[in-house]
Amino acid sequence: MNSEYHEMTGAVHLHSDFSDGTLSIPEIASIAGEKGLNYLMFSDHNTLAPKHQGLEGWYGDVLVLIGCELNDPHDRNHYLAFRIDREIAEGQWPEQYVRQVREAGGFGVIAHPAEKRNFSEAYPPYPWTAWHVDGFDGIEIWNQLSEWAEGVTRRNLLWRLLHPLRSIRFPVWETLERWDQLNRGKRIVGIGGIDVHAHRFKVFKLFPVEIYPYKVQFKSIRTHLLVKADLNPEMTFRDAESHVYEALSQGRCFISNHSLGDACDFRFSAVSSDKCYPMGSRLVNEPPVRLLASMPAKASIRLLWNGSIIREAGARVLEHQVIRPGVYRIEVFRKRRGWIYSNPIVVEPGAND
Ligand SMILES: [Zn+2]
Ligand SMILES: [Zn+2]
Repeated sequence: MNSEYHEMTGAVHLHSDFSDGTLSIPEIASIAGEKGLNYLMFSDHNTLAPKHQGLEGWYGDVLVLIGCELNDPHDRNHYLAFRIDREIAEGQWPEQYVRQVREAGGFGVIAHPAEKRNFSEAYPPYPWTAWHVDGFDGIEIWNQLSEWAEGVTRRNLLWRLLHPLRSIRFPVWETLERWDQLNRGKRIVGIGGIDVHAHRFKVFKLFPVEIYPYKVQFKSIRTHLLVKADLNPEMTFRDAESHVYEALSQGRCFISNHSLGDACDFRFSAVSSDKCYPMGSRLVNEPPVRLLASMPAKASIRLLWNGSIIREAGARVLEHQVIRPGVYRIEVFRKRRGWIYSNPIVVEPGAND
């Protein structure tokens, strides 16, 4: 099913030494290749310099795409701007940069929308507050750095520094709720961001510890794409890039926490009149629609309809006959933690609804 698609596993929302990351793009791509990733999407703060210096392209089998991360004059409303060629001026408001990314034919993603961390004045939260602004394409439903930092206290700081992957539990419920609500209107693609910087941080003013080195981050939150071709270095960068953005803009992707197991081969699709529709699809409930989710391993699965859990099972496969139109998506859990989050399939009302 959906065998026309090829799966690519990668990491989105990376910082390099072009802003406040700590390694160069070639060094980071080399680590990603060792960890089995197929693509990386960089978003250094307010700069497209690495793109303009020709650093996009293939690094071995790893495809590197470069965008940037924008923010407003209060350093809020962070926005990942991909597939743009010209810099967006700093000091603007989200109304302006969301529109400019859209007009440039870019792909814009709201970063860490519900960030609330408050453990340190030096690292304040950077939430998205401009919900009145329309025109964004996606939303980061899971941001690893935010989740790590939100749970930090003086008592658990050292433990969290030493065991970073164990602090990844779930996306923020508030963000998932908003995402479900947004998709009732139009497609808003969910992606997972790692927000990697690999800062060195002095613990209790004593010894420096690197927070989340790149090699550790690459074992955590991954965004899996279902692309329409087998992307490899024989293909030109432009062709490969267009396949990545085609899959992203159609919502043909899912998010996994790789530290709980390899989620490759997870699929969520709809079948109607013997035709198969992948995740991200929007289709009419006429003739009747059947949903099918298959896991790479037996796990605890939930099917959600408009944000409410309507089915739960411990299984490898879940099937569901659609009765009501709405936004359907899958969540999978392992060891009582979030493992896989699908993009939704939206069923629009048919003649009988
Ligand atoms: Zn940010
Ligand atoms: Zn960032």
